[in-house]
Amino acid sequence: MHTPISIDPDTGRSWRPRFDSKTLVHEERMLQAACYVVCAYLTGMRDCEVQAMRSGCLSLSRSTDGIIDRHRVRAVAYKGKQSQGEPAEWVTIAPVAEAIRVLEQLSADGAAVRGSDTLWPVLDTVRARKVHVSAEIVRQLNDYRDHLNILFGTEDRPVVPPGSSGRPWRITTRQFRRTIAWYIANRPFGTIAGMIQYKHASVAAFEGYAGSSRSGFRAEVEAERKLGQLDDIFRYFDERRTGTQLSGPASARIGLALDTANAEVGPLPAMIADRNRLRTLLVSLARTLHVGILADCFFDPSTALCLKNATETPQSAPLTALCQPTRCSNACITKSHRAAWECAASDARNLLREKRLSDLQRIALRQDLDRIQAVLDDLNP
Ligand code: SF4
Repeated sequence: MHTPISIDPDTGRSWRPRFDSKTLVHEERMLQAACYVVCAYLTGMRDCEVQAMRSGCLSLSRSTDGIIDRHRVRAVAYKGKQSQGEPAEWVTIAPVAEAIRVLEQLSADGAAVRGSDTLWPVLDTVRARKVHVSAEIVRQLNDYRDHLNILFGTEDRPVVPPGSSGRPWRITTRQFRRTIAWYIANRPFGTIAGMIQYKHASVAAFEGYAGSSRSGFRAEVEAERKLGQLDDIFRYFDERRTGTQLSGPASARIGLALDTANAEVGPLPAMIADRNRLRTLLVSLARTLHVGILADCFFDPSTALCLKNATETPQSAPLTALCQPTRCSNACITKSHRAAWECAASDARNLLREKRLSDLQRIALRQDLDRIQAVLDDLNP
């Protein structure tokens, strides 16, 4: 209770008043919920698998030069409606390891009192009869949502956005696995908490049990990919109707496909156009769509420039890390890519200020800047 309270960098003041015996119990319960979110979200584990974690479940492996290269979590995998699980190992990223270390400290007393080594004991050892948080975690997660809204939001602007009805979003344990599957499938380059890329989380997850076909996670990622592709093509369609400009070599082809679909569904305003009919019209185009940082790819393997030097054939997906967005006929650039192009232009300008550049380097940079500027001009007619 005498722990110094850290300063909130946004306000310059203590992030909360001092603890007392009541608020400490509440804050511990909220910390347990926060750790649950980190573990469930970043590993893609099911609720029963997260709650099977025990003290000592984390192991680290190091490369020959001593750097940690894998964080492994041992727990029990449950598939379908099986009540009997089997031991399994998930590979994960550092924030999950950190959350497990916090849980080990947090759960030590509550678990020891009941002779258990679970990481998820009910923390209130005085009043609670149950050993394990089990289904109570749902109530705890929703209390945590309210706790964050009170601490960091206002009545009008909660930090956890409300549901479509305007009421507080009801959190369930299932949502974490589905959401990470959606991000891995559709926005792998997006960031979590401003620093970790979903790509990192997915590379780690696919190395462990989550990547095995028994876990079902790959199938969920694929299902989310199909849903995300349809959402993205609807976004293209709606933006086209409002006159948003497309750029890049594929823009004419994609613009024509969208205009043809538009003519078929008729003059209804975009929001009430028959989405089922639209889905039928656009589904094959949607299947080729891969969202990227500098351009979206409407993938056609026969013309894909990124596959020209690929050794594995046939390739069923684009190699987006080798994308040539101004040259490949599959690339389509929209306003959602503008920030990345502006950033590239500013990098090129900064490099050009360097006095020690050779003439050839300077020419190459200028050409690059011209190419970037042409894309930006195209997006800002
Ligand atoms: S080069 Fe880019 S646009 Fe072309 S196929 Fe590859 S990822 Fe898609």
